[in-house]
Amino acid sequence: MKVLKERILKDGKCFPGGILKVDNFINHQMDPILMKSMAVEFVRRFAGTKINKILTVEASGIAPAIMVGYLLELPVVFAKKRQPSTMENMLVTEVFSFTKNTTYTVCVSKDYLLPGDKVLFIDDFLANGNAGLGMIDLVNQAGAEMVGMGFLIEKAFQSGGNKLRQQGVHVESLAIIESLDDCQIKLR
Ligand code: 5GP
Repeated sequence: MKVLKERILKDGKCFPGGILKVDNFINHQMDPILMKSMAVEFVRRFAGTKINKILTVEASGIAPAIMVGYLLELPVVFAKKRQPSTMENMLVTEVFSFTKNTTYTVCVSKDYLLPGDKVLFIDDFLANGNAGLGMIDLVNQAGAEMVGMGFLIEKAFQSGGNKLRQQGVHVESLAIIESLDDCQIKLR
């Protein structure tokens, strides 16, 4: 998606270890106009797919997910990274975080992920695919179906894209980074 790629080249910053910082428009300060344009693009790309629920994971996925949910007029559920003591009836999985180098528990209430749900997962980054695989696990546990996964930015030099596509899921990424070698952003 042209406008996102241009913004990444203008405002994205490379960090050692293959990390791209987009704090100026996605991960800290957020650009709602760009967020809306990205959601419109997801709606276009998943137009042929039957969806009844949007799923994301806190915190960075919530903004794009709610924009997509708004446009499609569908409920948006975010998986929680801590298990609330008041939440009963939970689906739980473990996710390894590439950026934080730790494993954390992610949970969703069974009240909000139901058998038969056709789920579109939306998130900011696709790196090694651990968050995505965790979400597929939660959806499977619920007896629901993951019908699509949409990412704002995919880092093609990490293995997540292959892992998720090998699961047979329709994966769409709005900008694909080929490399961040030598702190140079190379886009596909
Ligand atoms: P994965 O589970 O695919 O390895 O990583 C996805 C999660 O890690 C995303 O939800 C995102 O929060 C974080 N992440 C991975 N790579 C990057 C990156 O280069 N920059 C930023 N800002 N977050 C990243």
